[in-house]
Amino acid sequence: AKKLGRNNTQFYEPAMNEEARERLRIESALRNALERQEFVLHYQPQVDLQSGRIVGMEALLRWQHPELGMVAPNRFIGLAEETGLIVEIGAWVLRTACAQARSWMDNGHGMLRIAVNLSPRQFSEPQLLSSIAEVLQETGLPPACLDIELTEGLFMHDVAQAVELLHKLKALGLALSIDDFGTGYSSFSYLRHFPIDVLKIDRSFVSDISEDDEAAIVVSIIALAHNLKLRVIAEGVETESQVDYLRRHGCDEMQGYYFSRPLPAAEFEQLLRQGRDL
Ligand code: C2E
Ligand code: CA
Ligand code: CA
Ligand code: CA
Repeated sequence: AKKLGRNNTQFYEPAMNEEARERLRIESALRNALERQEFVLHYQPQVDLQSGRIVGMEALLRWQHPELGMVAPNRFIGLAEETGLIVEIGAWVLRTACAQARSWMDNGHGMLRIAVNLSPRQFSEPQLLSSIAEVLQETGLPPACLDIELTEGLFMHDVAQAVELLHKLKALGLALSIDDFGTGYSSFSYLRHFPIDVLKIDRSFVSDISEDDEAAIVVSIIALAHNLKLRVIAEGVETESQVDYLRRHGCDEMQGYYFSRPLPAAEFEQLLRQGRDL
């Protein structure tokens, strides 16, 4: 950088420049990744706590990078959001997840629910509603089998507009979940106004369930959900005692390493075929 001269910002801010270069590199790599089909979905089972059966799965994005290997979403979703690339990537996720769920249905695994994460940027995309409708139609997935996961942050800005869009989404026949419930700008008022079906209890509460405060929060979220006639799913369940606690307190479903990590499609189908005790 030195030979570019003293007035060059590269000279004065080598660290920042390095960071900017890294971002550019990732951004163009993300652009290529879609074309080169480097994205894959893994699927994590959602298990009914009463029956112990798999009733659905969450689609989780991974980037199979030729040099870096399997890249976790937290390392690139933020940048994909900032650059807007998340809209295209998200469309790919939705289509792939719905097609996969439909194919498992065709293979005799029944009506499984597929949960897909929706980023805030996608939520403000005018095409959202029509592209979801199109994917449902093209894949032939029954709308009731699609569960869109939203985060509380979405409801902070234009509440009236959000309510309207959620009602339109609901009219397609799908389910709506609040992800990471309790960690965002939770407000009880949106729960009254928004056509939500599921609360997902954030992992941070579940992982400390043996502590009084977290246990109280988990029990309260379950009660809140049920009083509002919503289903409740606990995330990040890792131990048998957490399973017992959640079951005892009437939590409907759970998701977590205790039952299974997110799996590549072929392994997930094997799990469906073999079954597994909770
Ligand atoms: P999330 O939606 O809260 O997804 C749950 C995360 O917790 C996943 O991480 C999952 O692998 C992890 N997890 C599941 N069970 C356990 C457990 O028992 N213990 C622990 N410690 N972790 C568990 P992952 O796959 O790395 O995804 C991270 C985040 O990236 C997701 O959090 C979600 O916000 C985002 N993400 C993933 N896929 C997509 C996508 O297709 N679109 C968008 N917009 N965001 C996505
Ligand atoms: Ca999620
Ligand atoms: Ca979550
Ligand atoms: Ca505590």
